[in-house]
Amino acid sequence: MDVSRVDPEEALVDADTVDHADVSMELDEQGTGGPAEHGKEDKVLVSIRVRPTDTEIAWDLSAAQTLKLIPSHARSASALPQYHFDEVLTGTANRPVYTRVARGHVGAAMDGYNAVVFAYGQTCSGKTFTLVRITPHPSSPIDNEEPGIIPLAMKDVFAHIRRTPAREYLLRCSYIEIYNEQLHDLLAAPSTAAAAPVQLLAGGVLSPLREEVVTSLKGVRAVLERGARNRRTACTDWNERSSRSHSVFRLVIESRERGATGECGVNGRTTPAAAGGRQTPSRPQTPYSRPCTPGGTRLQTIGGRSVQTSVLSLIDLAGSEKATSDKERTREGKFINTSLLTLGTVISTLAENASKAKADHVPYRNSKLTRLLQPSLAGDARISVVCTINPEPAAVGESTSTLGFASRIKKVQLHARKREVVDADALIERYRKEIEGLRAQLAAREAMAAEDREVARAGEPAAAAAAAVGGSASSRRRVSRQEREEESVAMGDLNARIQQLTRLILTSQSVGDAIEGVGGGSVSVPGSPSRLDFDMSPYQLQQELLAARRQIDSQANQILSLEEALLARPLIPPDAPESQKDRLLAEQGRTIRELEIVVRGYEENLGEPLRAVREDVEHEWEGKVQEERRKREEGEVWAREVVRELEREKRARQKLEEERRALTAFVSKFDSIGSS
Ligand code: ADP
Ligand code: MG
Repeated sequence: MDVSRVDPEEALVDADTVDHADVSMELDEQGTGGPAEHGKEDKVLVSIRVRPTDTEIAWDLSAAQTLKLIPSHARSASALPQYHFDEVLTGTANRPVYTRVARGHVGAAMDGYNAVVFAYGQTCSGKTFTLVRITPHPSSPIDNEEPGIIPLAMKDVFAHIRRTPAREYLLRCSYIEIYNEQLHDLLAAPSTAAAAPVQLLAGGVLSPLREEVVTSLKGVRAVLERGARNRRTACTDWNERSSRSHSVFRLVIESRERGATGECGVNGRTTPAAAGGRQTPSRPQTPYSRPCTPGGTRLQTIGGRSVQTSVLSLIDLAGSEKATSDKERTREGKFINTSLLTLGTVISTLAENASKAKADHVPYRNSKLTRLLQPSLAGDARISVVCTINPEPAAVGESTSTLGFASRIKKVQLHARKREVVDADALIERYRKEIEGLRAQLAAREAMAAEDREVARAGEPAAAAAAAVGGSASSRRRVSRQEREEESVAMGDLNARIQQLTRLILTSQSVGDAIEGVGGGSVSVPGSPSRLDFDMSPYQLQQELLAARRQIDSQANQILSLEEALLARPLIPPDAPESQKDRLLAEQGRTIRELEIVVRGYEENLGEPLRAVREDVEHEWEGKVQEERRKREEGEVWAREVVRELEREKRARQKLEEERRALTAFVSKFDSIGSS
């Protein structure tokens, strides 16, 4: 299911909709305890997987979690490398590998943390085998006999959903390949992918990106197979390409608590669960239906229930020898994989920063892969790295370099945190409630103050009489005045807070109202942070920031979807009645106004970063465009030369033909003379 054609409310998966056959495996009933708890640590989980071999092996694997080079394979007996890691795994079975290196991270992703699992190692050491086994058969490109981490993770995702009846989930996946610093969407049709290559925008956002909503394991399998097939058909030399490209499989997991019985979702889906909930304050539905947002249909928060969003990334990296071999580096510079080299530098800098408490610049922006992974590598996600090695003596150099990378990444510090999005409606609702409460307090205080004033007025003659007899009425009047002053300060505070909240509501609604006013559609967008009152508490600022981030996201998607709708709009024939043309003009005018509003909001919010990204992209493409132009001009010169050459050849052929004809005529004449 392409996400742009799906109503997210219709694609929700929950404990009741999971197909039991999808999760029937030994992992299912185990829960997420044991080694899976690794996913909760603030260090990268680093495991080594040693590929089996029929020949001699150069490493001593007898001690758990330790790898030692056997002395006879060392260059010098004095420096015998020995390494310790979280896991050292051997053998062919993928399930134990999944349980030890990825299961905890998948569980963390289901709990709302971003999680990344990547396989690093030289070509042929078992990265692809560990993640997803791709066979050479186009009809069944994924090997299901010994499924790798990706299929097992997806199975576990559905098992987790079945174990969590209190929540409902929206799952979307994407599959991209980074080859020669270009991003290829493995789920888009090859012609579409070629016509509109994936761009990497600010914050690691990919666009245009085909995302598929998955509701069952069967759906996931189909997506993986399509990706694997596209990956294979996209190249002439599969081995060369697979060893130089990175493939990134991403699952976006959105979830929220299930609603009460009879509660309707934004689009009318009923979400059955425990009784006692309240009715959803849904936005008005209008005849104008907004086109689905490509790559961005999001789960909506309902009635104040927040949406938890996380991304699980499973990455098969290019062969590490491409980035580490000195020979390769000096001999064929163009074959160096920029992304992998930069990943190495980024990891080293991060490890150095963490171990020496430094804050050196981390060059994320130097490659596509590191830009994509920046939020995760910067500590935002839980990370597990499986370093695969070939244990044969001939590979000792490469294996040692892989183990060096593994040791460095072990030092990187993580600070993963959950991501919850409270939607603008919930925020506005909360402000409204607070305003109501404050108004009630203000009214009560005003009533009390009025009463006090009455009492004071009525008490004045009595007070005068009491004063005459040395009574205490004057002291009562003094207290009342003080009380009144305090009261008026308190009421001033209340009033200021009410005004502040009212302003917040206005900013939260303004963009949405503007869009509704023009298009008549119901678009939920929170306020722009640029108009915020900075007297707000950190909590309120944080909420506004969250809402604004969502706004930027949804506006980017709106721009794409509106553009798509504009392109997809059928043109009417020239002889169509005037009324139909007028209607089309009016509709297009409306779309243009919507786009203008959205673009204005988008520019306001993105400002500098957007310009920076544009400059980056322009800079990057300028060289390529010039190179292409030069190649085309060379091609044209060459083509002209070829045409000239062909013409020369044609003339020569014609001349030869004429000579041949003359010769034939001469011979036949000669023959006829001879015979007569
Ligand atoms: P990479 O992706 O690192 O280049 P592959 O995953 O393609 O390497 O593995 C290379 C070969 O080794 C494949 O034929 C694969 O089936 C085999 N292989 C890798 N790891 C194992 C393993 N743990 N058990 C059995 N065969 C393996
Ligand atoms: Mg591979």
